[in-house]
Order: sequence, then C-alpha cells, then structure tokens
Amino acid sequence: MRVLITGGAGFIGSHLAEAYLEKGDEVYVIDDLSTGTMDNLAPLQADERYRSRLFVHVDTILNHDRMLELTGTCDVVFHLAAAVGVQYILDNPLKSIKINVEGTEKVLELCAKFKKRVLITSSSEVYGKHLHAPLVETDNIIYGPSSKFRWSYAASKLMDEFTALAYFRTTGLEAIITRLFNTVGPRQTGAYGMVIPRLVSQALDNAPLTVYGDGTQTRTFTYVKDVVRGLSSLMACDGAVGEVFNIGGTEEISILNLARRIIQKTGAASTVELIPYEKAYAKDFEDMQRRVPSIDKIRGLVGYEPVTDLETILQQVIDYQRRH
Ligand code: UDP
Repeated sequence: MRVLITGGAGFIGSHLAEAYLEKGDEVYVIDDLSTGTMDNLAPLQADERYRSRLFVHVDTILNHDRMLELTGTCDVVFHLAAAVGVQYILDNPLKSIKINVEGTEKVLELCAKFKKRVLITSSSEVYGKHLHAPLVETDNIIYGPSSKFRWSYAASKLMDEFTALAYFRTTGLEAIITRLFNTVGPRQTGAYGMVIPRLVSQALDNAPLTVYGDGTQTRTFTYVKDVVRGLSSLMACDGAVGEVFNIGGTEEISILNLARRIIQKTGAASTVELIPYEKAYAKDFEDMQRRVPSIDKIRGLVGYEPVTDLETILQQVIDYQRRH
C-alpha cells in the first residue's frame, strides 16, 4: 500500500510513517518543516529496511500541483499537517488559521477527486471549556470569545471536521475524523508549549518546573505509539468512515502532580514554580481546565486500548531526552 502522510516530519507523523514502513508499505511524506523537522525522519531514512520505501517532499500542502501528484499516487491519506501547539498558535495567528482551514480543504478536495480514503486529525481542543468528564464525541461545544485567540485553533479544527463531513455527505468521500488528546513520547519538542517535554527538560537541567496557573488543571496523556495504533486501526476499518472518534488515554492527572512526578522520577533537585497565566502566555489567554476522553466509541469499533501507562510514558520521554 502507498500511504501519504501530510505533516509526516512532525512528532506524530514520523511515528506513523515508521509504523507503516515496519508493515512493509511505501510511505510518502509532505511537510513544510514549520514545526516538523527532518531529524524526526533521519533514523528512518538511514535504515536500510526502509530507505527505498520512504519518499519525503519538503513542501506546503497549499502547493496544489505537488498535492495533486501525491494524492493521485497514494492509496490512502493521513492528514496531520497543521499548525499545532498553543504557543505556536498564539505566536502565528493568521498563518495557523490559513494552514488549518485552507490546507485541510485542499487535502479533502483532492481526496474527493481521486476517491482516496482520508483520515484527518482534529483535536480535543474542539470540546472547548467543559469541566465534565469524560468528553463524548456528541457533546455540545463551548468556546470563549474571538478576542481570546486560543479558541481560533479549536474553531479551525471544528471547521475541518465540518468540511470533511460535508465532503462525505455530498461526494461520498471516505473521510474519518479523529480527535487527538494530549499525545506524548520521544521526538516531541517542548518548543511550542507541550508540557511534558518542557517539564522533563527543565528537570534534567535541575531548573524550576514551570507550572502555569495553580496547576489544578488536568490532562490525560496518551503515548504516541498507542495513538498511531488507533489511527491505523481506524484507517483499516470501513465502519469508521463518516464518523468522529476520540483517541486518548485514561489516566487523568493535574499538571501540579505531573510536575511532582517528573521531579521524583528524574531525581532532580528542582522545585515547582507556579507561573500566572498572564506571564506564561499573551494576555488574552484562557486555559482548558480539564480534558478527559471517552474512548468507548473507538474501543467498540476497533478494540482500541491505550496500553502504555503514564509511568512508562514519562520514563520513555526522560530516556529520550537524556540520550539527546
Ligand atoms: N503547561 C504548564 N507549564 C508548561 C507548559 C504547559 O503548566 O511549561 C500547562 C498548560 O497551561 C496546560 C497544560 O500544561 O494547562 C497542557 O499544556 P500543553 O500546551 O501541553 O497542551 P494543551 O492541553 O494546553 O493543548
């Protein structure tokens, strides 16, 4: 099979590429290296088993001709290319909306033209400001005002979902929508805000761990290889077409407790430093207080289970950062 992965040089995309190369497939990557990096693909390009089956194009998904050629060539498309990371979105508000809305529209248009199955990666952000748990795919959605730019990411991802569903309804495009919850693992960078790689690198430097707000906000982290298994199981499942799925973990933890666990696991001499949100982000920032997925839907359809617990995830990230 020929698999096209947009954003394949990113953190999740590169793990997805690896999984399909391991299975013996051909993998085509398009990535503009805005947040992705060739370093993520270097081990795959250097591997003799994979080298002849991995094709990398450094380009934007907004390049129509390139996307036309790649979509025509491949059998299935994973669309991961997007502006990601709260910090990146706040720093690049216009670019983020353009790539997330226009880019996805382009991918869907070409998949519909060539009748290729496509899986798009939306985000747990689309749920907005809920406090209840778990979040179910059919839940209502609550956002803050447009002056608070964080919500532009949620709104753009929601628009992607609507567009994919509209293509499915009107053209029969085989579109599958996934909402990824906080995904972590080796190769993730803390440069765009992601909390675990940031706190781990602070701990390894014996520096204070920067916990934003009062640290009572919670997240549910999922190991990247578990997420990749969820993505490929859905892609292979006819029943997933035209549907929306959460992919996430089951262990809810507050950011304060996460920081304490990272200090304990690394043996760091660090302390926790509480940083007010207005110092951590631009002044119009608003955090999501809680984010826990229901995974009943994906579990029911493809038997998905996140098998890697937080303890193992943290160890993997710590080992990776120590090696690099
Ligand atoms: N966070 C933190 N310290 C950091 C980076 C992030 O306390 O150095 C918090 C952030 O405010 C949020 C949580 O950790 O409450 C998860 O942030 P991340 O950017 O990883 O993902 P999000 O769930 O916000 O998309």
